[in-house]
Amino acid sequence: MQDSARAVVIGGGVVGASVLYHLARIGWWDVLLLEKSELTAGSTWHAAGGMHTFNGEANISKLQKYTIDLYREIEALSGQSCGLHPNGGLMLAATPGELDSLKLICSRARYLGMETEMISLEEAKRLNPLIDTSFFTGALWRADGGHCDPSGTTHAYVKAARQLGASVERFTRVIALRQRHDGAWDVITDKGTVRAEHVVNCAGLWAREIGHLVGLELPVLAMEHHYLVTEEIPELRGREREIVNTTDYAGEIYMRQERAGALIGTYEPHGVVWAPVKTPDEFSMQLLPEDFERLAPYFEVGFQHFPALGRVGIKKAINGPFTFAPDGNPLVGPVRGLRNFWVACAVMAGFSQGGGIGLVLSRWMAEGDPGQDILSMDVARFGAFATPKYTSIKVPENYSRRFRLAYPNEELPAARPVRRSPIYERLKAAGAVMGANFGLEHALWFAPPGVTAAETPTYRRSEAFPHVGEECRAVRAAVGLYETTNYGKYEVTGRGARAWLDRVFASRIPPPGRLRLAPMLNPAGRIVGDLTIACLAADRYLIFGSGFAEEFHLRWFWAADIPADVLVRSAASSLTGFSIAGPRSRELLQRLVRLDLCGNAFRLFQAAETPVGFAPAILMRSGFTGELGYEVWTTPDYLASLYDDLLEAGRDLGLVHFGGRALSSLRLEKGYGSFNKDFRPDYTPAETGLDRYVDFDKPAFTGRAAALAEREAGPKRRFVILELLAADTEAIGYESIVKDGAAVGYVTSAAYGHCVGKSLAAGYVPAALAREGERLEIDVFGECRAAVIRLQPLHDPQGLRLRA
Ligand SMILES: Cc1cc2nc3c(=O)[nH]c(=O)nc-3n(C[C@H](O)[C@H](O)[C@H](O)COP(=O)(O)OP(=O)(O)OC[C@H]3O[C@@H](n4cnc5c(N)ncnc54)[C@H](O)[C@@H]3O)c2cc1C
Repeated sequence: MQDSARAVVIGGGVVGASVLYHLARIGWWDVLLLEKSELTAGSTWHAAGGMHTFNGEANISKLQKYTIDLYREIEALSGQSCGLHPNGGLMLAATPGELDSLKLICSRARYLGMETEMISLEEAKRLNPLIDTSFFTGALWRADGGHCDPSGTTHAYVKAARQLGASVERFTRVIALRQRHDGAWDVITDKGTVRAEHVVNCAGLWAREIGHLVGLELPVLAMEHHYLVTEEIPELRGREREIVNTTDYAGEIYMRQERAGALIGTYEPHGVVWAPVKTPDEFSMQLLPEDFERLAPYFEVGFQHFPALGRVGIKKAINGPFTFAPDGNPLVGPVRGLRNFWVACAVMAGFSQGGGIGLVLSRWMAEGDPGQDILSMDVARFGAFATPKYTSIKVPENYSRRFRLAYPNEELPAARPVRRSPIYERLKAAGAVMGANFGLEHALWFAPPGVTAAETPTYRRSEAFPHVGEECRAVRAAVGLYETTNYGKYEVTGRGARAWLDRVFASRIPPPGRLRLAPMLNPAGRIVGDLTIACLAADRYLIFGSGFAEEFHLRWFWAADIPADVLVRSAASSLTGFSIAGPRSRELLQRLVRLDLCGNAFRLFQAAETPVGFAPAILMRSGFTGELGYEVWTTPDYLASLYDDLLEAGRDLGLVHFGGRALSSLRLEKGYGSFNKDFRPDYTPAETGLDRYVDFDKPAFTGRAAALAEREAGPKRRFVILELLAADTEAIGYESIVKDGAAVGYVTSAAYGHCVGKSLAAGYVPAALAREGERLEIDVFGECRAAVIRLQPLHDPQGLRLRA
């Protein structure tokens, strides 16, 4: 075995094989895959091989399409067949919600350039005669997808990688990992030690154990999964083409043709965790005992929906384990604090996603950036909150919902509440309906007295609609209180703090007592954060951003060479607070502070350390509603007293609680974008409009060259607000924006603007179309609806209320 390599890939399943191939393809020929057993011996060999482009996240859908298209390439390079059956896919709906979901998929696919359409049930039956259509109300057909041979596909990757110079050692177990002073790794195996610049954890069922070798607790867990293969089905005899792979939402069943019979699998509601604490070392090419008694009722539903399957015998039953992250998406990328250590694990759809993961990870390793927005499969979307207990509860929940619809207004109940602010119970008592962000409970909306604090999952307007409207109107008319504890918060201190921030952020760094909106760019000039920096003193700064991105931003800061005279730390659990917004917010706060808040005495974007009522606090004049507003930050031990003081001071001023839903509506009325939804690492300063906060005169900051080049050339597309002319329904996200019948852009977020009485959507369109009043259409649930671009904010276009 060679004793050094540029990168060692641990694990020879479909994911490790793809990573090996992509590293070799990008020019890292000196790469070595170590496999403790035979290739495919983990969860890969017994997979059903189904592949499809469907994912709730458009970017992951694109990578799934890339994966499926790649198979022809690796077949040609390797001479090894992937056993492709590109017979496409059918998705069946039985309820109005499922039908909405299929139409939404169609709208998204239109922009992504994927051949997908709603078809009649008769047409569905023609594509798969085994369906009993009486159980269903609608069907979607897509050209992409089918199934492949798991073993053939893995070997095709490996053979193609070998042709490019990569090496593979089978029956070589990694037993320890030790980092050298220069950042390289000693990969210690049962056959000797390999020195590697980089290590990639593709150990699938053992990814957790490989994580432990470097002190890492990855949120990954294996579940048992059953599928059956039937005897020959007479109805399939004589057909020229295979039936189309079919997903049945109502039955939570997938089925496809397998030779002359069918393969049917189910994601049952009470799934069984496999190897909850430790994956056995010796497990290899093994299956688990079948549990028909437990699974029978669920397969029974399948036999009703596809009756011919119930009339023939079962030839083979498979029960095998495979891994999931708590939200079902893979865990990919570098890990904060671990130099040159990468993960590509928790991949539950290796044959749809393996290729895309290899592509982005190889770019990340070789070029320092994944090359596109992959936030939804970035390992950094989980933080310390994803403990083994959390994972052990969330993964079974996710498994049980694999084929359930994820409604946009739905908050999943498992492992909640876990992270709670000190006023969690008080907000609940005030009617709060809670959501969880990065594990932390936060209020979505408030049910008034007599209204049940709950919401029916739907793609349309829910029971919350009128109450969110009341919250919005009260904020604009008087004053509202929103708990901001769920924001991402960081503290940067030390003599070198200002110089370091100046290098990391594209904006000017505010002087003491001021705040500034601060975009953060990657070297390619794309947005990796739109944060707010508050300067409390020349050597003391607070940074605020999206709570979801806390680990993502910490990893970014860590990687930005923090000098010895700078300390960067998360303030996630040490700072709690409120936003107080609305025309009467000044009057309210003035009752609690000695500081003069009048007129120019405390201007927009000013910050001060001052007691607010009982609480030692940091007061900032800012907010996200477009109204006169303040943020008050204090430590958790004072939050309850601060809450009491604010409620008391606001009692006669019409103070209301408002939640995240109202905030989304208020911000879109002002045309503000939000990180993770509208601003992500796919977009640039000029596309998002964040270029107005970039200080192009600064001699150096990350992404400067790319940002300058973009300023020269102009953006290709722009972030805009669209008004749907028929204000009776909202978009959800990633719907196609259409011009003259062609998809030209897509929606990134949407809400009803309760105070302007309009249905609003934010999204990206070609720069040439980003004109006031430009008429376009948005494909909302299969209906192209007229929409108009509004470049001026619909609420307070001059910003007079904000500056009041
Ligand atoms: C019943 C069933 C049906 C499925 N059907 C589908 C489907 O239709 N479509 C689909 O896309 N997916 C399906 N899957 C999921 C699919 O199998 C996984 O997504 C895929 O196998 C994940 O591959 P992997 O490479 O991440 O992990 P694994 O296949 O588990 O590979 C990890 C490898 O790492 C090796 N390894 C571990 N520790 C070490 C060590 N210390 N040293 C060296 N090597 C090590 C292991 O031996 C193993 O070979 C199914 C899974 C099951 C169980």
